[in-house]
Amino acid sequence: MSEQSPLDLAEGDPFGPHNLPYGVFTTADEPERRRVGVRVGSHVLDAGAAARALGSPYAALLDQPSLRPLLTAGRTAWRDVRRALTAWVTVPAHRPDIEPLLHPVGEVALHLPYEVADYVDFYASENHATNVGRIFRPDGDALTPNWKHLPIGYHGRSGTVVVSGTDIPRPLGQRRPPGAENPSFGPSVKLDIEAEVGFVVGVPSERGRPVPLGSFRDHVFGVSLLNDWSARDIQAWEYVPLGPFLGKSFATSVSAWVTPLEALDAARTAPPARDVAPLPYLDDAAEEEQGGLDLRITVSVNGHVIAEPPFATMYWTAAQQLAHMTVNGASLRTGDLYGSGTVSGPETHQRGSLLELTWNGRDPLELPEGKRTFLEDGDVVTMTAWAPGPDGTRVGLGEVTGRIVPPHA
Ligand code: CA
Repeated sequence: MSEQSPLDLAEGDPFGPHNLPYGVFTTADEPERRRVGVRVGSHVLDAGAAARALGSPYAALLDQPSLRPLLTAGRTAWRDVRRALTAWVTVPAHRPDIEPLLHPVGEVALHLPYEVADYVDFYASENHATNVGRIFRPDGDALTPNWKHLPIGYHGRSGTVVVSGTDIPRPLGQRRPPGAENPSFGPSVKLDIEAEVGFVVGVPSERGRPVPLGSFRDHVFGVSLLNDWSARDIQAWEYVPLGPFLGKSFATSVSAWVTPLEALDAARTAPPARDVAPLPYLDDAAEEEQGGLDLRITVSVNGHVIAEPPFATMYWTAAQQLAHMTVNGASLRTGDLYGSGTVSGPETHQRGSLLELTWNGRDPLELPEGKRTFLEDGDVVTMTAWAPGPDGTRVGLGEVTGRIVPPHA
């Protein structure tokens, strides 16, 4: 009986050769040596070692401790490297070279695969914005007057973006309990999640030159699932008039895997119909690509599914967000990361935050270990997603997970 190759994947494996997301890993033998890895099934290919073994010209991009050289290389290189990788993991003649360079994914440590430059977070789901408006401004319009004219966003804290698997200490801060005149200080009692999709910028742009809708793919390399941890009590007290601050900046978790946009070609979809015409720089009606993506997200707490937010329902696309983010002349840097905003669909079970799922604590969720309004210490939140791939396959996005731990003493 011959030993099965790690490259003999089960039919329908969401991490098959049609996917090939990128990450950075270390092994137990060499915990200091970070290397670019490409996920194939349940293994990680040492991509730099593979490039060297096969005499590939892409060794300069892949034999690196970070994705940065690949990110800066641009769209043509992204396509060519992906083609080479596809051949390395599918052509039988390469197996003797490739198989020794595969590590079981459970036996490596995964790291943040690039240095996050600037981090921006948007607010692009109409269902989410409407729910939040109803919860926090029950007597006003659910959507603010600007909402359908521009993708609302804010600049977050790039230095606290952490890789999936990193523990999340409960944040401390000011919050004013309902009915109290003055704020108190302590651990957040309304710690929440936001299920989002993060977009990773590869190619920088020049200051003073906006990036138009049609140039989205010249700059954005790929996507990662993102959890925008949010302390609702801190947020509610601090956010007027300048927006989110300490209620968000303590941590943002991203998947260890960046899925290249090219792997998501079969998931491209038109965004929902818009009932307000956007200004020309945001008007994608005549664009070749409208920029919607059909990603199906699942959110679990302690292994129990609590929501299934559909990314295809997002009102503003990542291309519109990029155009808006740069329309004032602000430049892009390699490693810029921007979050889509909480993904919430129209149905109750499609809401991407506990704020919405429990209606700000009014309707607790029933989990086997007890009721949940917001997160408790020890809770583990995991987000996964898949997208339609070529020929009826599924493209898996790398999971993003994190455990809530008590505040540091
Ligand atoms: Ca958010």
